[in-house]
Amino acid sequence: MNSRIYFDHSATTPLDPRVLAAMGPFLGGAFGNPSSLHREGRVAREAVETARAQVAALIGAEPGEIIFTASGTEADNLALIGAVRASGKPGHVVTSSIEHAAILETCRFLAESGTKITHLPVDVDGLVGPESLLRALQSNVTLVSIMAANNVVGTLQPIEELAHITKLHGVLFHTDAVQAAGKIPLDVNRLHVDLLSLSAHKFHGPKGIGALYVRKGVRLAPIVFGGGQEFGLRSATENVAGIVGFGAAADIAREELADEAARLARFRERIAAELSRTLPHAYPFGHPVHRLPGHLSFGFRGQEREVGKLLVALDAAGVAVSAGSACSAHHSGEPSGVLLSMGYDAERARGLLRLSMGRFNTQQEVDRFLEILPCAVATLTRPAIPGEQSVTDRRAVALA
Ligand code: PLP
Repeated sequence: MNSRIYFDHSATTPLDPRVLAAMGPFLGGAFGNPSSLHREGRVAREAVETARAQVAALIGAEPGEIIFTASGTEADNLALIGAVRASGKPGHVVTSSIEHAAILETCRFLAESGTKITHLPVDVDGLVGPESLLRALQSNVTLVSIMAANNVVGTLQPIEELAHITKLHGVLFHTDAVQAAGKIPLDVNRLHVDLLSLSAHKFHGPKGIGALYVRKGVRLAPIVFGGGQEFGLRSATENVAGIVGFGAAADIAREELADEAARLARFRERIAAELSRTLPHAYPFGHPVHRLPGHLSFGFRGQEREVGKLLVALDAAGVAVSAGSACSAHHSGEPSGVLLSMGYDAERARGLLRLSMGRFNTQQEVDRFLEILPCAVATLTRPAIPGEQSVTDRRAVALA
């Protein structure tokens, strides 16, 4: 009963022991450089290529279309800056207003060199509408980049439809699938995407290793220069242990994804139903159906400014959750840019509690959390304001 409950898998996940076992030899005796021609080097090269095939299989790609990077952030940087640089012009990048900072800040950087950036709006559920994309595609566009799953509210975008529209205009399509990979099925050919970013630590792999899928024939320019590793697109001696762990995590996710997603969705639905019963002033964020299986985020009407305290109270009671996203934690207290973009007012946009469950969470933990949460909410000083109405109350219905 004393162990902690970790419900913050959108920030990062614990390493699967099977992944750690696969990495072990490459943190010890198998230390070769994959570019070396001797036996030590060949052992490392073989491990890297096995992992490349494993990561490719997770998303229906060819091994030669996977470029290992140091993170999901770097994969996003390579996709956007690499595509603009390869086009030889400042160009025009179309993205959404609720992307992760890895995309938004890269766009800001590109804008400094003259790239035009269009941020597509989203609706109250966090969905990008195909009409706004179609409008943006009327001007010359270099690349469209829309995330597969949002890290704050868990909404899944209709990537297949958005990428299809983009392809009809002969424009490259990138998706940041860092939150989606390993959690929902992804097939690059069914989705029609040209570029897709992944990160191992979001699905029980190691931190500091990511990948960019680059469809065969798509031209990218490198953003890291050196010895020409990773098909000339990402110079640096490979992080062999990280890459091996990434491959093992991808393999496990591919095998277990369907069962795991169904189990996590059941946990989410149980929490949502119970919250709407016991805490009627709690309201959910994000799309009610098109969402990540183990992800749930909500606010508390009248207690929006108390969410930070709630996080601390839950932490003290042994539960790790998040207010907003880990990457914006240093801005806590400020309204969430994602919620503002979704049309919530600044007050509502301040109070988001995010639960994200993963492979090792259990039904018992869910039950224990449901006992702890109402007690933690009851300790908050500001009273709830029942029945308050605003435009954002469209989502303030029963959580289930
Ligand atoms: N993109 C999204 C949607 C994310 O949620 C994150 C991390 O939270 C990233 C990119 C960055 O990935 P990494 O932590 O591997 O740099």
